[in-house]
Amino acid sequence: MINRERLEKHIEELSQFGMQSSGGINRFSFTEEEVRGNEYIQQCMEEAGLTVSFDAVGNVIGELPGNEGKAPIIIGSHIDTVPHGGKFDGALGVLAAIEVAHSLKDQGVQLTSPLKIVSFKDEEGTRFGFGLLGSRAMAGILKEEELEWKDDQGISIKDAMIEVGLEPEKINEAKVKQVAAYLELHIEQGKVLENEDVPVGIVTGIAGPSWKEVTVKGLSEHAGATPMPIRQDALVAASEMILNVEQIALKYKDAVATVGKLTVKPNGVNVIPGEVTFSLDVRDVDNERCAKIVTEISEMIQAVSEKRGVQSEITELQTVSSVQADAKLQAIIKEAIVSKGVKPISLVSGAGHDAMNFASLCPMGMIFVRSKDGISHNPLEFSSMDDCAIATDVLYDTLIRLDQTL
Ligand SMILES: [Zn+2]
Repeated sequence: MINRERLEKHIEELSQFGMQSSGGINRFSFTEEEVRGNEYIQQCMEEAGLTVSFDAVGNVIGELPGNEGKAPIIIGSHIDTVPHGGKFDGALGVLAAIEVAHSLKDQGVQLTSPLKIVSFKDEEGTRFGFGLLGSRAMAGILKEEELEWKDDQGISIKDAMIEVGLEPEKINEAKVKQVAAYLELHIEQGKVLENEDVPVGIVTGIAGPSWKEVTVKGLSEHAGATPMPIRQDALVAASEMILNVEQIALKYKDAVATVGKLTVKPNGVNVIPGEVTFSLDVRDVDNERCAKIVTEISEMIQAVSEKRGVQSEITELQTVSSVQADAKLQAIIKEAIVSKGVKPISLVSGAGHDAMNFASLCPMGMIFVRSKDGISHNPLEFSSMDDCAIATDVLYDTLIRLDQTL
């Protein structure tokens, strides 16, 4: 059993670093607020009996030794926030992991595997638009040229690292050599668990987004002088395409497709829209199915264009591969959840997490905690203490059960 009061105290205290008068938290990487937040994490880790170090990219690592020659289990998340972020996104995962270690100490339980608890650097990518920095470095997939990403002031990640005393040329030293398994507890940031009326869930995989930009070209003409049957209205065509995007995504259970951005030219009251550009974000935890959905959408866009006499072009922006959670780890998390008398619910993560970067290195597992109204990246982000405590208990139980299998 974990100590609920201590966990609650830690969540409250950490939330004060970067707290704004509006109730939101600004705790961005490479800022004073983050430095103080990290000092607080270091103190919590030390109280939990962990040996603390900072690696080349600025990840905070708390370690417990295990039996000689065994690979470590890593439990991680992050404490940086988006602008006006909430108390739970990332922070709960780090504090829950520390609470698990503290409870092991309280109960005199010794694991056979070494344990590394990590608070990852810059997961959100708020400042540089480049997220998952710390977990990429630890997984050994961060490239030195990626440190050239710049913020609005033209300052690069590399410059920011140097400013806080880190050595960018040493990022390769942050790479872990061997990992037995990776675990992460995180708030769901959606409504699946709330709709199922359960406090925790088992993540089956993390869906990476496929981003495209669609440009539809018609003909700009006078809105009064052009009869309806002979128009080539780019916005009407785009509208039909967008409605069809929704219908295509609805056919697939775990898929989501979103058009979130739209530009209309010339954007005048009395002009038929001649050109429309819209964004497309498609996600499915199954990479093949995601590609299939994108193909289906592309064919639909072509068909609508022909029917309406407009031209359209689809440009690839980026595609991030989806990753699967390890089946054995999912089964262990399920056992832990059932042992708490909770109905086990499996769900997909539509948002990216540090865990993504470990899926190709070792078995990866994630535990989601119910989010009130599915809200996150907002001061209203909330998970009840009952839910946080039960999820942390599930993490504790999962770790013990996992260690016995290694
Ligand atoms: Zn997060």
